[in-house]
Amino acid sequence: MKPYDEIHIENLQVFANHGVFPEETALGQKFVVSAVLYTKLQAPGCSDALTESTHYGEVSAFIVDFLQKHTYKLIEAATEQLAWAVLSAFPLVSGISLEIKKPWAPVKLPLDYVSVKMTRFWHRVYIALGSNLGDKKGYLDMAVSRLSEAEGCRVKKVSDYIVTAPYGGVEQDDFLNGCLELSTLLEPEKLLDLLHKIEAEADRKREVRWGPRTLDLDILLYDNLVMESNELTIPHVEMHQRDFVLVPLAQIAPWVRHPVLGKTVCELKDGLQ
Ligand code: ATP
Ligand code: CA
Ligand code: CA
Repeated sequence: MKPYDEIHIENLQVFANHGVFPEETALGQKFVVSAVLYTKLQAPGCSDALTESTHYGEVSAFIVDFLQKHTYKLIEAATEQLAWAVLSAFPLVSGISLEIKKPWAPVKLPLDYVSVKMTRFWHRVYIALGSNLGDKKGYLDMAVSRLSEAEGCRVKKVSDYIVTAPYGGVEQDDFLNGCLELSTLLEPEKLLDLLHKIEAEADRKREVRWGPRTLDLDILLYDNLVMESNELTIPHVEMHQRDFVLVPLAQIAPWVRHPVLGKTVCELKDGLQ
């Protein structure tokens, strides 16, 4: 866990209309919300200035308003959506641990409450962009703007786009390549789904491996995560061997360290012949 300070909101009561049964959405019931906001508090701790912290009264009012304006069948959905909304609305908050309790859950059994609890953090991700078909710059710009508009995503930095020779031995046009830094609440698999959706929107056809494409979006790094599944390898397996990745990445993330190789992006780039 990251070394964050915490602001706690404990057992905030909200009367709202979530539930699977029509009676629940019609009549409403009591929900009890607890939140831990992960944030850094040394600045307000030293200055005694509220402007340098997050106002727990505003967060509490935001929670009540959000839960009363929306209706979800599941408290899973209410908790996930509320966590995203709080993290999107309060810029100093890096993470939240959020619990929604339902003391009057209609299960016809004696219990104190049922609850769902989730912890969500902003993640720092680097994405490679490439195009070598059609309006290349237009496709890369389109990817940047789709990612900035996507829910739970914020584009923080975008590199220059560079022209590079094609890779992988297929005869084809030059590429335009770039990288961007994304702050996201999406887990890796969900982020890959979003990237695939944006590629499809750019009319990407998956024909020849390493063949011409309107838009290619790869996840290079995701925090310090190391993972391998059928769908996804993070860090991207070949990022450290590709100058068309490392040159733009070094512009926006020179000191970021590859979690497996232990070298910075700058060192990896300088190590290429
Ligand atoms: P390369 O991965 O060598 O750059 P490519 O980008 O041309 O090749 P694609 O056809 O775009 O390959 O992707 C094939 C599959 O690779 C994707 O459907 C995805 O499931 C998988 N994949 C594995 N790791 C990653 C990653 N880090 N980012 C994006 N896709 C990945
Ligand atoms: Ca690729
Ligand atoms: Ca790809």
